[in-house]
Amino acid sequence: MEQKKFSKATDAVWAGEDSPFFKGAATTPIVNSVAFAYTDLEEWYDVSVGKAEGFIYSRNTNPTVAALEEKIRVLENAEAATSFATGMAAISNTLFTFLKPGKRVVSVKDTYGGTSKMFLDFLPAYQVEVKLCETGNHEELEREIAKGCDLVYLETPTNPTLKIIDIKRIAAAARKAGAIVVVDNTFATPINQNPLDIGADLVIHSATKFLNGHSDAMGGLVAGKKELVRQVFQFREINGASLQADPAYMIARGMKTLDLRISRQNDSALTIARYLKSHPKISNVFYPGLESHIGHEIARSQMRGFGGMLSFVIDGGYGLVEKFLPSLKLVHLAASLGSVSSLAGPPRTTSHVELTAEQRALLGIPEGLVRYSVGIENVDDLLGDLEQGLEKL
Ligand SMILES: *Cc1c(COP(=O)(O)O)cnc(C)c1O
Repeated sequence: MEQKKFSKATDAVWAGEDSPFFKGAATTPIVNSVAFAYTDLEEWYDVSVGKAEGFIYSRNTNPTVAALEEKIRVLENAEAATSFATGMAAISNTLFTFLKPGKRVVSVKDTYGGTSKMFLDFLPAYQVEVKLCETGNHEELEREIAKGCDLVYLETPTNPTLKIIDIKRIAAAARKAGAIVVVDNTFATPINQNPLDIGADLVIHSATKFLNGHSDAMGGLVAGKKELVRQVFQFREINGASLQADPAYMIARGMKTLDLRISRQNDSALTIARYLKSHPKISNVFYPGLESHIGHEIARSQMRGFGGMLSFVIDGGYGLVEKFLPSLKLVHLAASLGSVSSLAGPPRTTSHVELTAEQRALLGIPEGLVRYSVGIENVDDLLGDLEQGLEKL
């Protein structure tokens, strides 16, 4: 399908779904075949060495998985895309593809807990130099990038206080230093933000979250410049963190309603953020759509919507969080985010469970913080649920 011909809502439905399918099936089939058979040895050879298009073995490529990869490629305005068993597989494969001993990576302190663990524990063990900057401090990022680096890794909005990084500005600094720019776009989704359009080289998704949207399948996606995606793909072919056909089908199916879901979640999250902001028992609300949010202006310049994630501080600390959360009826108290059903939890058991209490404190994550992933329920029902919970405090 040609790029930029249709709106995101249309691409979410059609991209990757337009090839002729087995016996005329009008929906992408789940091709649970490990290997693909040939009757002509010459053709088999040509596909094997990449001279002709086709499938050989599902650790490398698979028709159902390829349909999903095409969908994210079109939605992110990318040249190419590849996929992984989980979001962390996408992140770790990308980092290990480009970061060898002696290389330097610049990132921020507020990345997803698992990513943070990569930077703090795993990469230094492979003699990769890691510099993590204060997330809102663009001057520090520019200074560290200018010192020389190979890869700049960003995430915006971040977990759990929704900090915003100016992608265009940092990508410009990275280009001067000759570094590639990787952006985790999980929170925004391609409906709200396209990092590749404003200077990023690669964009990563935990497809487990908003893309799938139903909390019933895991996956990771990487999209961007063809030559870079090729290198990440070749590393994944060998280390084997491949996505299977079943979850690929579930994620592509979920993505057909991505625009509908994200539009609703954008609207509801803003309504809920405004409600909480004016509530006497809430001391702070973090949502990039609020004018009071520190990153609001940058968010407005690079996002089309502010997303379905917000967090807020209950005045009184963790004791009240323990009382408040179980009293909510319309949320799952669980890890993960981005599903049709609302979900909430404290960062110390969700996004930042990998970190120690001291590391969380250093990141400025207050003990009374609640992270709330807004689902697609009726917003008045969600407001009513929050209200009855807060009344009990
Ligand atoms: C969940 C998440 C990941 C990791 O994805 P998995 O599919 O759980 O491996 C990475 N980045 C962000 C922002 C996430 O929310």
